[in-house]
Amino acid sequence: MNFNQCRVPAANIIGEPGKGLLLGLKRINTNRASHAAGFIGMAQHLLDLSIVHAKTRVQHGRPIGDFQAIQHMLAEMATEIYAAKCMVYDVVEKIDQGKEDRAGTSMAKLFASEVNSRVADKAVQIFGSKGLAKGHPVEKMYRSARMYRILSGTSEIQKIQLPKHY
Ligand SMILES: Cc1cc2nc3c(=O)[nH]c(=O)nc-3n(C[C@H](O)[C@H](O)[C@H](O)COP(=O)(O)OP(=O)(O)OC[C@H]3O[C@@H](n4cnc5c(N)ncnc54)[C@H](O)[C@@H]3O)c2cc1C
Repeated sequence: MNFNQCRVPAANIIGEPGKGLLLGLKRINTNRASHAAGFIGMAQHLLDLSIVHAKTRVQHGRPIGDFQAIQHMLAEMATEIYAAKCMVYDVVEKIDQGKEDRAGTSMAKLFASEVNSRVADKAVQIFGSKGLAKGHPVEKMYRSARMYRILSGTSEIQKIQLPKHY
């Protein structure tokens, strides 16, 4: 949709004339931070489901969680989620204080979305063929995770913007 020479009554102006882009950018900043928090929630849920599955799925006479290969995947998932969480808490705290950290928010969105994708990939691996069955929660989250590297600024766009903040 295009607005060309569109007149807006003075009473309907949001913010100050000429400062609209800044308002928009502030909104994008908050949006990215809230998206990143959601990605972490999904990643944590994937980890929780994976732990339960690892404890209950028996192969070769024992739960697959007994195998070090599975333990390593769970450890990597937990570690990356923890790192992403720290980043998001940091930027959200700054937003709460009225400070704007666009670089930090871009990094948090970039990292949390990439972590969520890696966690979803490992969850599918731990669930085996069940994790690929259409309609299974892990399969659904795997597809959604892929989307998060695109919305509210693709990973490539976050990386392009970062150097501009320094
Ligand atoms: C679920 C969902 C919800 C969305 N919600 C909204 C919304 O509420 N509001 C809204 O405005 N938009 C929304 N979008 C749109 C989203 O912001 C765009 O899809 C996104 O910005 C990418 O644009 P595009 O799809 O046109 O891909 P393109 O811009 O065509 O990008 C294709 C590829 O090229 C890369 N690329 C593009 N430009 C460059 C560059 N300069 N340098 C390097 N690589 C580049 C991209 O990173 C990507 O890998 C949403 C998208 C999705 C999937």
